[in-house]
Amino acid sequence: MSNYNWCHGPNCHTKETQSRVRGSGDNKVLRTIKIKQGRYNYSGRPEIITYDDYFCGNHCLFDFIREHLTSIIAIAPRREALETPIKVVKEKYESHRYQYSNGQSNRVPYMAIRTTIKSVDNG
Ligand SMILES: [Zn+2]
Repeated sequence: MSNYNWCHGPNCHTKETQSRVRGSGDNKVLRTIKIKQGRYNYSGRPEIITYDDYFCGNHCLFDFIREHLTSIIAIAPRREALETPIKVVKEKYESHRYQYSNGQSNRVPYMAIRTTIKSVDNG
């Protein structure tokens, strides 16, 4: 079963490309792009729906977001910051740098600090 969507880009039908031209003679129009659902879904799982199923390209996706941003944000407003517990681990390790003098470079060891963010299992 093949299903199609019309591109949801609000200006899709105004973009001057050959792929949008429909009609004959003096009755030609630029028409919104018709998108085959799952056209970029290589997962073998047709239930997975992506924006590719609703927008012919990023330009139309972002035109839609710009036009409907307030409504989109209203679907899931963020009223407070989210936080992810982490541990910040600092460890010393021996590194080196080069010192240049009199046209010579010398490899000089020094103790550097590596900072790593580690996730915390909240299980
Ligand atoms: Zn489009």
